[in-house]
Amino acid sequence: MNGTPLLEGKIALVLGASRGIGAAAARLFAREGATVVVGARSEDALRSVADDIVADGGKASYVVADLGDTASIRRAVDAVVERHGRLDVAFNNAGAGVPPHPVAGFPEDDFDLVVRVNFKGVFYAVGAEVEAMRATAGGGAIVNTSSVGSLIANPALPAYGAAKRAVNSLTASAAVTYAPQGIRVNAIAPGLVLTEMVAEWEAHDPGVVARIVSGTPLGRAGEPGEIAEAAAWLLSDRSSFVTGVVLPVTGGTAA
Ligand code: NAP
Repeated sequence: MNGTPLLEGKIALVLGASRGIGAAAARLFAREGATVVVGARSEDALRSVADDIVADGGKASYVVADLGDTASIRRAVDAVVERHGRLDVAFNNAGAGVPPHPVAGFPEDDFDLVVRVNFKGVFYAVGAEVEAMRATAGGGAIVNTSSVGSLIANPALPAYGAAKRAVNSLTASAAVTYAPQGIRVNAIAPGLVLTEMVAEWEAHDPGVVARIVSGTPLGRAGEPGEIAEAAAWLLSDRSSFVTGVVLPVTGGTAA
């Protein structure tokens, strides 16, 4: 093992990086040597993440991007190539949460939002990133954020669980399709991480965090940085023989 930073010299796009897991990932990727472009919808938050990285000596800029809009996704990927000449690695981490509801009577607007952002957005992001990597870097690596809720029944969040399971299928299909071109595609399935998304879930269902923690073998929630560490490794050349996997980062939940 040498001491080279995991992502030294890589041009990285992180979508869903204005807060939570994505912001932690952008900070870690920059510390690991990447030049990072952070994307999401909230411009002020993105600017602050990018400014923090630069203040810490890293390289970062932002692009406003809506994963619910395929043209916006394409513009974000194009912006990375225009700024830096290529795209090496991408973390498709954006995700929308909706209030818990069982299948019967599930609000159609919530269903459409979850599928549009969490599945369709990631699907088209992977497509645009693969094209950019092939055209500019001649290879690369992509990580999609799935969820532990895609691996097991998800009675409280059935549309979310189904959209994330679709991401797992997309990940495997893209991994096999683009392996001959040197592009690896993997996913991470985080367990409970105390971000804004989970705070909203707790507001709708008080006690849900404590219930999930009590069922987590490691006995606690994860930190955003612990999910980011797994993403950094999967995007780095140190995982060069890993493709098509959905890596649980769950503290043992669903093991
Ligand atoms: P979060 O703090 O709510 O962050 C969600 C991120 O996604 C934000 O940066 C948000 O930015 C972005 N986003 C949402 N809708 C978007 C859209 N239409 N276009 C572009 N960006 C969008 O939640 P988080 O927990 O860090 O979630 C990150 C990922 O982890 C999600 O995919 C989530 O499903 C997954 N996950 C989380 C947990 C957990 O326990 N926290 C567990 C399993 C999986 P803007 O609002 O600025 O657009």
